[in-house]
Amino acid sequence: MDSMNTSADVVIVGAGPGGLSCAIEAKNAGLSVIVLEKGSLVDYIRRFPANLVWFSTPELLEIGGVPFVISTVRPTRVDTLNYYQKVVRFHRLDVRCFDGVRTIHRSPEGFEIGTAGGALYTGRNVVVATGYFDNPNRLGVPGEDLPHVRHYYDEPFMYFDSDVVVVGGRNSAVEAALDLYRHGARVRLVHRGERLSEGVKYWILPDIENRIKAGEIQASFRSTVLTIQSGAVTVKTPGGTERLPAAFVFILVGFHPDVTHMREFGIRIDPETLAPEHDPSTLETNVPGMYVAGSAVAGKYNNKIFVENGRLHGRVIVSAILASVA
Ligand SMILES: Cc1cc2nc3c(=O)[nH]c(=O)nc-3n(C[C@H](O)[C@H](O)[C@H](O)COP(=O)(O)OP(=O)(O)OC[C@H]3O[C@@H](n4cnc5c(N)ncnc54)[C@H](O)[C@@H]3O)c2cc1C
Repeated sequence: MDSMNTSADVVIVGAGPGGLSCAIEAKNAGLSVIVLEKGSLVDYIRRFPANLVWFSTPELLEIGGVPFVISTVRPTRVDTLNYYQKVVRFHRLDVRCFDGVRTIHRSPEGFEIGTAGGALYTGRNVVVATGYFDNPNRLGVPGEDLPHVRHYYDEPFMYFDSDVVVVGGRNSAVEAALDLYRHGARVRLVHRGERLSEGVKYWILPDIENRIKAGEIQASFRSTVLTIQSGAVTVKTPGGTERLPAAFVFILVGFHPDVTHMREFGIRIDPETLAPEHDPSTLETNVPGMYVAGSAVAGKYNNKIFVENGRLHGRVIVSAILASVA
C-alpha cells in the first residue's frame, strides 16, 4: 500500500466490519481502495463494554474469507478486536485511522473527500459505513448531562459499593446491571416496559430474572425517569414518584445514526426512520456513486442490520460499482 496515495476507485468512510468487508470486496475485484477512519480500527467495537461476549458465533462475524477461530462458543470483545486486526493485515488493506471525514463534495473525478485533519482525497466512488455508536439515545430529562451520568458502559470496578441506577431493558442495560452487581454495586434497573425485552440474550435472561426475584438487583418496571440530580434519580413508577439514590446513572437505551453528516454529504434522510435514501438492490444513495454500508443503512432501526448481515453489503456495492463502469 502507498500511504502517500490520496486517490482511489473507492473511498470508504468508517473502518467497522461493514466498511472493512466492502474494502476487501473492492480490492478483490481489482479496484483501488482507501478506508478513512476517525478513531482506531473497528473503533466502536473497541469501545464496547470490556467484558462483552458477542451474541453471534464467530463464523457469523467473519469477513474476507478469513476464519475466525476461538476456543469458546461465542467471542469476547478482545477476540473480535484481534480478529479484525488480523483480517486487515491479511488483506493488506489501506486503512488510515484517527482522521475523520468532514466533507464530501462532487468533483470532476467523482468525489473530493476532506478530513478533520485537513487531508483531501479523491474517490471515484464513496461508501459511507459510519455506523451509529456515536449517538446514544437520550431521555431528554433535566440532569442528563451531569458528570455522574453516563450513556456508555465500560467496566465495573469504579462502581464498587456505590448506588447505581441503570436505565433500559435491553441487552446493554441488562448486561451492565449484572456486571455491576457482580462487582459490588447496589443496582436499580429502571425500565419503562412491563418486562425486559424479549431480545435479551437467552442465556442472560434467566440470570437477570433470578437476580431480580432474589432482590439482589432492584427493578422498577413501567417506570420512567423524571429528573436526575446529584446523588439521586426521581422516577415515576406505577406506585407514585420515587427518589432513588444514585451515585452513578447509566442511560443505556440504544443509539441512532448521525444523520447530520450524511445530509451534509448530500444524502437524503427519511425523517421518520432516519434511514439514508438508497436503492436496496445496489445500496447506492440518491447521490450517484455514493453508497451506504453496514448499520448506517438502517436508520434508527439499527437492530435490523448488524455485523452478521451488514458484512454482506460489500458484495452488493462492488457489483453495482463494476456494473456502472461496464
Ligand atoms: C453492545 C453491543 C453488542 C453487539 N453484539 C452484536 C452481535 O453479537 N452480533 C452482531 O452481528 N452485531 C452485534 N452488535 C452490532 C454491531 O456491533 C454493529 O452492527 C456493527 O459494529 C456495525 O458495523 P459497521 O461497520 O456498520 O459500523 P461500526 O462498527 O459502528 O463502524 C463504523 C465506523 O465508522 C467510523 N466513523 C464514524 N464516523 C466517521 C467519519 N466521519 N469519518 C471516519 N470514520 C467514521 C467509526 O469510528 C467506526 O469505526 C452489537 C452492538 C453493541 C453496541
